[in-house]
Amino acid sequence: MKLAGGCRCGAVSYRSERDMQVAVYACHCQFCQIWSGSSFALHALLPGDAFVLQGLTVEYAYEDQGQTSRHHLCATCHTRIYNTTTAAPGLWVLRAGTLDERSSLSPMAHIWVKHKQPWLSLPANIATWPESPTPEEFAAVLNAGQS
Ligand SMILES: [Zn+2]
Ligand SMILES: [Zn+2]
Repeated sequence: MKLAGGCRCGAVSYRSERDMQVAVYACHCQFCQIWSGSSFALHALLPGDAFVLQGLTVEYAYEDQGQTSRHHLCATCHTRIYNTTTAAPGLWVLRAGTLDERSSLSPMAHIWVKHKQPWLSLPANIATWPESPTPEEFAAVLNAGQS
């Protein structure tokens, strides 16, 4: 399936040039809670070179624990579309809620659940980590859901 999505105001859109599966995960870290204004954020790790982005974006970059994250937002409505991180070169960490086809997304994993809000009950059969998993652990879970 080719992927497409965009921001709230419509000034920024993106689409993938090839078919791909989306493995979505929920991040309950405190940054994601603040940025989303909500309980957690839905993300998908996708190859950045597969996407064409249209429209003017602004960038917010910051360093944390020796890694640099660059967040790309619509320059008009400031919807956060994706970020890159030096911890995972070449990947987009896409804000999955910006996808046009978001209604059927279901997280394959939940990370940073030590900051999960207490009202939220997670399914028993889903992978969780108290903080960030190792890249190897994470890839094993996300890739298992794509077959
Ligand atoms: Zn916008
Ligand atoms: Zn997070």
